[in-house]
Amino acid sequence: MNCHYDCIIIGAGISGATIALELSRNGYQTLNVEKLAASGQGSTSNTCAIIRTHYSTLEGTAIAYDSWFDWCSWKDYIGVEDTKGLATFNQTGLINIYRTGYAPDTHLRLHDELGIPYEIWSREKLLKRMPHFVDDSFYPPRRPDDPRFDESPSGKISDRIVYYPNDGYVSDPVLSVYNIQQAAESKGATFRFNAKVTAIRSNDKGIVGVTLSDGTCIDAPVLVNAAGPHSAVINQMAGVAGQMNIKTRPLRHEVHFVPSPNAFSYEKNGLVVGDGDLGGYHRPETGNLILVGSEDPACDPRDWIDDPDRFNPDVTLSQYQAQTYRLAKRIPSLQIPNAPRGIADLYDVSDDWIPIYDKSDLAGYYLAIGTSGNQYKNGPAIGRLMADLIDACENGHDHDSDPVQVPLHHVDRALNTGIFSRNREIIQGSTFSVLG
Ligand SMILES: Cc1cc2nc3c(=O)[nH]c(=O)nc-3n(C[C@H](O)[C@H](O)[C@H](O)COP(=O)(O)OP(=O)(O)OC[C@H]3O[C@@H](n4cnc5c(N)ncnc54)[C@H](O)[C@@H]3O)c2cc1C
Repeated sequence: MNCHYDCIIIGAGISGATIALELSRNGYQTLNVEKLAASGQGSTSNTCAIIRTHYSTLEGTAIAYDSWFDWCSWKDYIGVEDTKGLATFNQTGLINIYRTGYAPDTHLRLHDELGIPYEIWSREKLLKRMPHFVDDSFYPPRRPDDPRFDESPSGKISDRIVYYPNDGYVSDPVLSVYNIQQAAESKGATFRFNAKVTAIRSNDKGIVGVTLSDGTCIDAPVLVNAAGPHSAVINQMAGVAGQMNIKTRPLRHEVHFVPSPNAFSYEKNGLVVGDGDLGGYHRPETGNLILVGSEDPACDPRDWIDDPDRFNPDVTLSQYQAQTYRLAKRIPSLQIPNAPRGIADLYDVSDDWIPIYDKSDLAGYYLAIGTSGNQYKNGPAIGRLMADLIDACENGHDHDSDPVQVPLHHVDRALNTGIFSRNREIIQGSTFSVLG
């Protein structure tokens, strides 16, 4: 195997794979080193893969919208035949019920600015589309062991429910990353699996290469940290952890599955629902199930993880009950089996829940990290953004003082990548949650 590349990418999740694809499209010889046995097996394998465009910043909204076009025309984006077939985007639409005190104005303004369609729905329209729902407000979200959990509703949900017709979900995120790997390999990219980076080598000029756990040394002048929840471990290895204003750390998160109610088939008629009133979201899942996720409401303790190689991968009864019992307030006919079913995995959370797509103080070392539970959908745009940023910096551009402007691929505007800087001040307009 070649031991010298133009660029090594640590990780072959959605971020690492799309970066490899775009760099190799631009003529770079790339190598992804992945400690697991195949691509997309890290936190990407457990993503809910919801594709939506409402974010709290213009740039976040713009990369989500730009990527949406790629999910819609996946065959064109991938550009090669894949014997395993292509991942599919289920464009079901998404209903967002905004919590009391949180108006949709920012989201709507950003959608107007970018020309992304939406509709304002009344409670009546919501109940017509989702007849199994009740339109009561249960805000604020509570845990089932809170004596106030069964209190009567506090009123009605807001009458400004927003329907986003573009949105939906990808049913097989692992396949989607495999497709990207195939596309990247067709452009000359190399992927090496069961290969764990244990050291990063550098000299006074910058990055030299990486060393793997079996002692193999691989060299490249450019190295990208796309290690997902291991991003902070890799930054420690590179010696840059103390040189960034914004830090990342892993947060454990659970998602559960329950059957679709008898009276309403999620398989046939379901869509994605964000329910800020209940602090959760849900969407159809294969097998006429409902996938029940959480927006981490304040009542739920946050499960920060010190070592991303050591966390409980099993769902817990208490969190299963918290998430599903809350949903049962919106769907009184919801059936909740006694035995919890679901997945637990890690978010790579930045201080303000906005990702870091940037260079670093170590020449040749780049960051695609802090994806904060919400960047799967943005994979295609992240690949292009990082490829352009790397190319500009490697050609002498001073990104720290003059942030690279990246032309979006499908949207007629340039993206100011400075918002994703490692040295930004905390973005106060963020939701400080998985919503970004
Ligand atoms: C439960 C859950 C639900 C989510 N739901 C959504 C959603 O609905 N929509 C959305 O847009 N986003 C969602 N996300 C977030 C999304 O999944 C992530 O933002 C995205 O998958 C991160 O991709 P990544 O490539 O950066 O990281 P990963 O997929 O984790 O890839 C990083 C890779 O690096 C490898 N690696 C780490 N250390 C080393 C090393 N030393 N040597 C070699 N390889 C290494 C890992 O094995 C891993 O495969 C969710 C996340 C979770 C956990």
